Amino acid sequence: MIGIGASPGIAIGTTFVKRNPDIEIKKKKIIHADEEIIRLKDALLKSKEEIRLILKKAADEIGNEEAKVFEAHLMILDDPEMYGQIENKIRGAKVSTEEALEEVSKTYIGLFENMDNLYMRERAADIKDVTKRVLRNLTGADTVSLADIKGQVIIVADELTPSDTAQMDKTRVIGIITELGGKTSHSSIMARTLEIPAVVGAGKEIEHIKSGDTVIIDGDKGTVILNPEEALIKKYTAKKEACQQLKKKLKSFIGKDTITKDGIKVELAANIGTPEDVDGVLKNDGEGIGLYRTEFLYMDRDTFPTEEEQFIAYKSVLERMGGKPVVVRTLDIGGDKILPYLALPEEMNPFLGLRAIRLCLNNKEIFKTQLRALLRASIYGNLKIMFPMISSVEELREAKKILEKVRQELKNEGIRYSFKIEIGMMIEVPAAAILSEIFAKEVDFFSIGTNDLLQYTVAVDRGNKEIANLYNPFHPALLRLIKNVIENGHKEGIWVGMCGEIAGDPRLIPVLVGMGLDEFSMSPISILNTRFIISNLIKKELEKKSQEIINCSTAEEVCEVLDSICVK
Ligand code: PEP
Ligand code: MG
Repeated sequence: MIGIGASPGIAIGTTFVKRNPDIEIKKKKIIHADEEIIRLKDALLKSKEEIRLILKKAADEIGNEEAKVFEAHLMILDDPEMYGQIENKIRGAKVSTEEALEEVSKTYIGLFENMDNLYMRERAADIKDVTKRVLRNLTGADTVSLADIKGQVIIVADELTPSDTAQMDKTRVIGIITELGGKTSHSSIMARTLEIPAVVGAGKEIEHIKSGDTVIIDGDKGTVILNPEEALIKKYTAKKEACQQLKKKLKSFIGKDTITKDGIKVELAANIGTPEDVDGVLKNDGEGIGLYRTEFLYMDRDTFPTEEEQFIAYKSVLERMGGKPVVVRTLDIGGDKILPYLALPEEMNPFLGLRAIRLCLNNKEIFKTQLRALLRASIYGNLKIMFPMISSVEELREAKKILEKVRQELKNEGIRYSFKIEIGMMIEVPAAAILSEIFAKEVDFFSIGTNDLLQYTVAVDRGNKEIANLYNPFHPALLRLIKNVIENGHKEGIWVGMCGEIAGDPRLIPVLVGMGLDEFSMSPISILNTRFIISNLIKKELEKKSQEIINCSTAEEVCEVLDSICVK
């Protein structure tokens, strides 16, 4: 069975199947609407009581962030609009409470499921969860409760709702398989937080699994093996043990410097999208934040975030990082990231269009609001500001001029800000890489955004599956550009980092060290492994290898050189 690997790791064990009962709603005309309304009110009350208990348990056991889901559930149950529609249906169409509830919630679920935004689409699951609970309380239908788990089990469910996960005893769950759901559904997020291997979206095939079966799940690959043979169990047990050993070894790198065998220190930072992601950075001992993608603050909402809202988010990240560097990238919207409340022109090629800094320079008020919030937050930590998608010196100068203007405004208003903020730019457009010698005189640092730099260098859309084989990070043109940027930065005495995906790629890390990259920024979960890899490298030897790479003609030749690098 193949699904989506939602939380990494291997689990081997006995299953506990939890299927939601099919509650059959018989259509019948009712006579006493008032009695139906009383039933509705009772079921809503009972459901609220249950949710309040779950909310408390979730807050105690998982944390306030997770518990917020249940606050959302309570809000759904308290929604006067939805309640009014159900009541009107009962009185107007003379249908039972069950039928009215089901119909109204179906409309709401449809509304959310059809939204463009993935996050909002997945909120439909909250309404489904709440509706099921109320229906169960109306009909008295029985469900298998996850509170009844005995021993250590792998949970198999159609969909694991937040109420389910809140009730289960997490110490007894060693793995999760679900028929539905995606990488950002509640069960996936919860599984990753608790480090439980999980495969979601495995489809109808999971109906073949019964309670008490033996299964293997591979949360990295998204595979499920039902009733495996002894040989397979042996193979996966060995794999699981190797994973656990590695995890243990990596934990021993917490609190250590990131340093090569010949004593060259580099900085290992993390990429984040929201203030909550700082949890993962601290857990994995990130030495800073190399990329805070602020666009997430602007998404999943109906209006621009205010200066105050932004200030609170930036302040929280800076304070929690306790003086460690935090590189905040100014708004990078456009391309594939759109805001429902910002009308943009139809573009033939949005990735080559009004994106990132171009959009900010065209909409100065949006840009200035963000810069004001950043400057105000700067006194709470070690802030560095970075501009995305710079393709000409004029653009950079204009962005810096606006920043200067904002500084002046704050000064006139008597508002404090730090005088020591480093200003940098992303190198993600070939023009910026080629002109890096000039740019280096105008900024305090570079951060190479290889995700875009690769797409623009080889003219391959980074999201197009048809040509994914051409989006090859081993392309010698990309590697030449990277080396060039690092050298030009160093010539002017500035530091050079990288926040594109390849900064955390174990195959490329050695040559990046050889090229002299100063800072590596990546997903928090890759940090300790990267520190481990770097601690086994000898930079002096890798300098030669990076020169060899530059002389390669093809990606295949590059890979041959990379294979010749032996990492102990
Ligand atoms: C990049 O382009 O490499 C980068 C880090 O930015 P994003 O992935 O947000 O475009
Ligand atoms: Mg980019």
